[in-house]
Amino acid sequence: MADQAKLCANAIWAELMRPAYAQIDLAALRANFRLAKQLSVGQTLAVLKADAYGHGAVACARALVDIADGFAVASVEEALELRQAGITIPILLLEGFFHPSELDEIAHHQLTSVVAYTQQLAQIVAFQNTRPRPMSVWLKVDTGMHRLGFDPSDLYQAWQQLQQLPLITAQCVMTHLSCADELDNPLTEQQLQLFRRVTHGIRGQVSVVNSAGLLGWPDARDGWARPGLMMYGISPFSRQHPVADTLRPVMHLRSQIMAMRELPAGEAIGYGGRFVTQRTTKIGVVAIGYADGYPQHAPDGTPVMVNGHRCPLAGRVSMDMLTLDLTDHPNPYCGAPVELWGGSISVAQLAKTNQTSAYELLCRVKRVTRRYFP
Ligand SMILES: *Cc1c(COP(=O)(O)O)cnc(C)c1O
Repeated sequence: MADQAKLCANAIWAELMRPAYAQIDLAALRANFRLAKQLSVGQTLAVLKADAYGHGAVACARALVDIADGFAVASVEEALELRQAGITIPILLLEGFFHPSELDEIAHHQLTSVVAYTQQLAQIVAFQNTRPRPMSVWLKVDTGMHRLGFDPSDLYQAWQQLQQLPLITAQCVMTHLSCADELDNPLTEQQLQLFRRVTHGIRGQVSVVNSAGLLGWPDARDGWARPGLMMYGISPFSRQHPVADTLRPVMHLRSQIMAMRELPAGEAIGYGGRFVTQRTTKIGVVAIGYADGYPQHAPDGTPVMVNGHRCPLAGRVSMDMLTLDLTDHPNPYCGAPVELWGGSISVAQLAKTNQTSAYELLCRVKRVTRRYFP
């Protein structure tokens, strides 16, 4: 056992770093985005908010800049990160600005702001009255999600108000679908009908769909599509879908076996002793934990790939480590490559067994280094 421990230490120190990393497959990202573009009837924005759903916004932007019609982010800070990296294509601020003091930066860096409620519109008007600057905006209308967006009865007036500002380009009217991932939910059709009705007299572009809308609701594909999740290789649907199921996973969360031990039956493993060995059991310790973004409450039996073989999680996930039952693995060894999700283990499936979403698992990935593959 002492020899084995030494071996493990060597395997890790050979790389001079903790072996946990997120492999980001940029070719898959591009292929998924191309698929989104094929489905889209108009133009296609790549949604890169939240550091590109944990994949690294700058690297993803650089990989997509020659095929995307623009990018979408959640804040001026996120947009400036892209501008500072030399990205010059349009960037949409999905929630607009949070305070009028951001309007200078928005104008200066040629960001496109969503205007989603009366106060934001009044702030744009006030800004244009005091410091007139050219600016492109999208108006958002609430068609049923009831989060952001003008009331449908106020849309036309808001649009007219924007027309009166000489330096403002009112480019597009957008809305957001709340249940597009449920392919039998009638709300989507209601939202689409309302959207068509309220945008009828408005001469501007439109934008409706996220990934689920683009993949699942062909009638909604006009104008600017705004795919996020599907670009990262994940189907938004809980059921099989012929197109969504061809997406290629972009992130592979990986690490290594850092230590192994054999225990007799009846021994409890890890915090709380949740897993108790039922037989002579080979336990492998993996250098990754919930501080890296792996779900802390993953149940015993959750599959993890070790050198191409599926092994069950055994014991509670720790902050920096987790433990696997390697007894049925044909040749486990220290330094063996481990994949937590990405290839054989889908992040969507893992999310499901952990009562969360693929979105949240991806966004929670942190601390691990990212390794980009072209
Ligand atoms: C995040 C977001 C999207 C992308 O959604 P996905 O489900 O990841 O495709 C599109 N539109 C808006 C307004 C968003 O906030």
